[in-house]
Amino acid sequence: MNTPELPSPDSASSLPVASPDRRRFVATGGAALAGLALGAAFARAQNTTAPAATPSATPGAAPMDVLFGCPLNTDGTYALPPLPYAYNALEPSIDEQTMHLHHDIHFAGYMKGLNAALAKLADLRTGGEYPQIGYWENQLAFNGSGYFLHNVFFQNMAPAGSTTASTDLQFSFSKNFGVFANFQSQFTAAATAVEGSGWAILGWQPFGQKLVILQAEKHQNLTQWGVIPVLALDVWEHAYYLKYQNKRADYIKAWWNVVNWDNVTQRLAAARTLGAA
Ligand code: MN
Repeated sequence: MNTPELPSPDSASSLPVASPDRRRFVATGGAALAGLALGAAFARAQNTTAPAATPSATPGAAPMDVLFGCPLNTDGTYALPPLPYAYNALEPSIDEQTMHLHHDIHFAGYMKGLNAALAKLADLRTGGEYPQIGYWENQLAFNGSGYFLHNVFFQNMAPAGSTTASTDLQFSFSKNFGVFANFQSQFTAAATAVEGSGWAILGWQPFGQKLVILQAEKHQNLTQWGVIPVLALDVWEHAYYLKYQNKRADYIKAWWNVVNWDNVTQRLAAARTLGAA
């Protein structure tokens, strides 16, 4: 296996960051209007104009438009971000045709499915009845997770040799995994052993302030990667069976009486700061 070249200490500023053009682009939801041709042009422009990252004045502060860069249309629906490089830019590691199919068909399919699920759920709320709620929640999770993870996936790649790991990143690898080679070997093993379709994911666990490597079989499991819980209801039988036996609905009805809305408010406020510009 090839080990990516690790940077010299003075190359910490080489991590790519979104250019001001991208910030504006995301903020205005321009991706939906860009189309693929314009998207390629944008990507070229971005590659030539993006400034080098400068060390953050606030250690640990995240570049939020990188973390939360999913473009929105003006009506709030999700849009398809163009590749931040040419379709053939990753040759020979990943071929141009695969990139076309993966981005233009598969990624776009998740986006369409996510928007469709959101629209359908809005209709159901209007009607006040929820036939096939399980199906539509599954669609929301499946397509939402697919959409968000592909946003990360495509932005996680760049032409070979064009980037290096920052000193901050190297420090995080060594702190959480020992040495870089250990991170890489665990990630490789995890990816190789995913059963069926899925992902290997390096993620930040905010509760423990740690990096973790996870396998995601399929990718939904009725969640959306990146969502931070603000209100959680346990519906495992252990949570209610002694009192409610099989009557989960009664348990849920009663549970609404004991929600700590102050706590929910605090959690939501804290979570929202993660996406604040
Ligand atoms: Mn994919």
